[in-house]
Amino acid sequence: MKPGQRKKVLVTGGAGFLGSHLCERLLAAGDYVLCVDNFYTGSKANIARFLGNPHFELLRHDVVSPLFVEVDEIYNLACPASPIHYQFDPVQTTKSSVIGAINMLDLAKRTDARIFQASTSEVYGDPDIHPQGEDYWGRVNPVGIRSCYDEGKRCAETLFFDYRRQYNLKIKVARIFNTYGPRMLPNDGRVVSNFVVQALKGDPITIYGSGNQSRSFCYVDDLINAAVKFMESGDELTGPVNLGNPAEISILDLAQRIIELTGSKSPLVFKPLPSDDPTQRCPDIDLARRELGWEPQTTLEQGLVRTIAYFDELMGRARVSGL
Ligand code: NAD
Ligand code: UDP
Repeated sequence: MKPGQRKKVLVTGGAGFLGSHLCERLLAAGDYVLCVDNFYTGSKANIARFLGNPHFELLRHDVVSPLFVEVDEIYNLACPASPIHYQFDPVQTTKSSVIGAINMLDLAKRTDARIFQASTSEVYGDPDIHPQGEDYWGRVNPVGIRSCYDEGKRCAETLFFDYRRQYNLKIKVARIFNTYGPRMLPNDGRVVSNFVVQALKGDPITIYGSGNQSRSFCYVDDLINAAVKFMESGDELTGPVNLGNPAEISILDLAQRIIELTGSKSPLVFKPLPSDDPTQRCPDIDLARRELGWEPQTTLEQGLVRTIAYFDELMGRARVSGL
């Protein structure tokens, strides 16, 4: 990078939920942002506000194909994250994770760019260690309906560490736990957006299984802070690093909280639990605390209030325009 030049940052999956927040953060920091997306689950609405910004560039591209651009940093987020979307075309999901990782790692190798991988708590599968620390190897079904995502992300991690060992790449592997917030799609299918949309519409809240399974939910702003801090950390910090909020809650309690916060009269309905649905999940974030000086600042209640306000406005707008 020449002196005085803006850092050129590639965000794959930049039109998605996390990607669009990351683009916004990087633009605010003065970077030049190249957003690459195939719009599988991403939306133009998420990035419409950046299109007039001379430091923002959008490229419709699938990371399964090689990409030749000049960049200083790469955040590799391109992959559907919601079970209904990643299971819709599982072969494409594995390709996005594995071939996408190879293509982005090759790009990092050619340009000598730092590269961040959005890995996931799913690498731990249905864990028998609780909370999950980075040294836990996981309990993943290699042939189930979640495997395209779980094993795809595990293989991507392997590739990142092999490129590091073989080519000395500057890698940053983050294991992201359930993250929620504004700009999730109303039909995203993940639990927070499903429950908020159902509660606002007065529709039944769909609990899969007994609702006793747990998750730990991180608000998007906290997660983006961590991702940027990780990218800015020294080259020796490769990860994997867990990023998430260790406040654990059952799915049933989450439904009750959302009903209370929306004042909804929605009833609960119980549906079958999808196969391989993890029974518990909670990050051990000691490494992130120690090495990044980071921990989440947003309580579940604060994050839910902001998320509810977002969907309320979005759905109000949709009602007015008759969509
Ligand atoms: P998302 O579905 O909103 O975003 C994914 C984006 O990637 C979308 O814009 C989609 O169109 C794009 N994409 C998918 N396949 C692509 C391909 N082959 N080429 C180019 N673009 C492609 O999901 P998200 O929640 O924003 O997740 C972003 C990343 O973070 C994903 O890699 C996901 O696995 C990871 N992650 C997210 C969470 C979470 O809770 N949000 C948790 C763990 C990991
Ligand atoms: N879930 C639910 N109702 C929904 C959507 C999800 O009960 O409408 C459950 C799901 O079975 C899982 C948890 O909520 O136990 C989190 O699901 P999500 O798809 O958000 O994320 P993941 O399973 O990947 O952690």
